[in-house]
Amino acid sequence: MPDTEIILAVDAVHATYNHAITALHGVSFEIRRGEILALLGANGAGKTTTLKAVSNLLPAERGQINAGTIRFDGSDFSRRSPGDLVRAGLVQVLEGRHCFKSLSVEDNLVAGGIGRSGRRAEIAADLERIYAFFPRLKEKRRTLSGLTSGGEQQMTAIGRALMSRPRLLVLDEPSMGLAPLIVQDIFQTLRKLNRETGLSILVAEQNSAVALRYADHATVLENGVSVLSGTAADLRQREDIRALYLGQQPSPAAKPTHLHAVA
Ligand code: ATP
Repeated sequence: MPDTEIILAVDAVHATYNHAITALHGVSFEIRRGEILALLGANGAGKTTTLKAVSNLLPAERGQINAGTIRFDGSDFSRRSPGDLVRAGLVQVLEGRHCFKSLSVEDNLVAGGIGRSGRRAEIAADLERIYAFFPRLKEKRRTLSGLTSGGEQQMTAIGRALMSRPRLLVLDEPSMGLAPLIVQDIFQTLRKLNRETGLSILVAEQNSAVALRYADHATVLENGVSVLSGTAADLRQREDIRALYLGQQPSPAAKPTHLHAVA
């Protein structure tokens, strides 16, 4: 019987592009309901491909899953459209904060609610809920997205995803190109959303230091394989592992932990 506590189960996934380039060859991890899982790894390790596999977005890039299974809420969604997944509660914020630059911040958010065919009052209530988490967006609601800062555009992209009322929010490198204080702010808000609303979060990050500070668990990818999983607290302390897989310098005081290999 499937474990109902698990919202997303990725098991031994292999994926290729153009039937030729192998991007993933054995990625496994699980996300429990209400937790934040960080997917870590160096440039090219396969983080984006894994997220696209989860959201069924690989075919749009001439990619495909060749082996393994992905189950969301206990069901295999591999033959369903990305739209079906959104309606089922799995929503992805793509890398590079895609906003409609010539629309206002608020219109960008409203666009996220349209697919849900929400009523006006519902949409207004959802906007207020999002503004409560991102007060900066409320201040900028009438500004064209293209004229807002990179951090505000990332918040807009997250806010738009929240308009679909996800149960699992998938984020690809939300820190990319942003100043450290803005990155902190975004991760703090993600954790607040997680703690206050029970939203489960899968976040791919090259910035492992910040991701490990806010995640509950983490899985490390190396060359398309998940090589380690453990609690973020354990992984934070394993400086040897961070040096090996995540390109960070070790300091002499690495401590023992309960990490396990998943390859
Ligand atoms: P980054 O942080 O640079 O985005 P990543 O960990 O997200 O890295 P992926 O983008 O998933 O890694 O890339 C994994 C492998 O798949 C790489 O070897 C990459 O060159 C290859 N790849 C990614 N996208 C495509 C594509 N559209 N067509 C062909 N190969 C691709």
